[in-house]
Amino acid sequence: MNTLTDPVAIRALLDRHGFHFSKSLGQNFLIDASVPERIAEAVQADENSGVLEIGPGIGCLTAELSGRAGKVLAVELDNRLKPLLDETLSGRENVELLFGDALKLNLRELVLEKLPQQTKLVCANLPYNITSPVLTAILEADCFERICVMIQREVAHRICAGPGGKEYGAFSLLVQWYTEPELLFDVSPHCFVPQPKVTSSVIRLTKREKPPCFVSDEALLFRIIRAAFNQRRKTLVNALSAGLPGLRKEECERILKVCDLDTNIRGEKLNLGDFAKITNELADLTNFDLYGK
Ligand code: SAM
Repeated sequence: MNTLTDPVAIRALLDRHGFHFSKSLGQNFLIDASVPERIAEAVQADENSGVLEIGPGIGCLTAELSGRAGKVLAVELDNRLKPLLDETLSGRENVELLFGDALKLNLRELVLEKLPQQTKLVCANLPYNITSPVLTAILEADCFERICVMIQREVAHRICAGPGGKEYGAFSLLVQWYTEPELLFDVSPHCFVPQPKVTSSVIRLTKREKPPCFVSDEALLFRIIRAAFNQRRKTLVNALSAGLPGLRKEECERILKVCDLDTNIRGEKLNLGDFAKITNELADLTNFDLYGK
């Protein structure tokens, strides 16, 4: 039984330390023991794994991970939680706590230093206000085999969305380029204190062995995707010629034809393979200023 999710025990712990929740830090702590257990199980850690947790709170998920993984490195921004975590995680030799802002750390350097030999995983109940930037930083660190996180349901659906719907966007494509996402289960607001306004979902992102398709210039692929979705109501030709300096509409139409795409198509209808083909065609153009300098 994980007493770190028992509302009465949590209240007593918080009162003893004079701790008050901070809304701006996205502090919604779990009070249903089955949830941290299921999240920790879903990341599939074993004694060879090193798990990075972002935002341990009072440590309910940290404790579950500590029982499964070789090592847990937990990064917490709120210094006020230090005495609480020292108490709740005392005796857990495989947990290292680090106080700092996960968004300001170089996650790759950090885990290469702290979890050098282990298979690197991420597992967290993420603070809602930093979901997208922290997930982007985790993906860009390019060293995690699996990432299992709880986030707002709406963001989880955006991440897993395919072409055509309103949930599909640049963030779906960024995540799907690096990983294969799976929507695992929903968690009701009743499972937290204080209760958030929205339902949460747990997702698992499994690193791809190699990118899903070939592109000659990955940075250009993401510039094209951003340009396509910055003005998603426009046709792709209009969105790209507006978003990529020096790219003429006629050139853009010619490229779409080469790629077997309708010249009136919108970006939201394209899959990663289509964006990759466009990238490779554009990268070959010599009269186009690739980096918009
Ligand atoms: N893991 C706990 C649980 O599941 O009950 C707490 C999760 S709570 C949703 C998010 C945690 O992230 C809080 O402890 C908060 O202080 C911490 N946090 C917020 N912003 C952070 C940041 N930029 N870097 C590291 N931790 C952060």
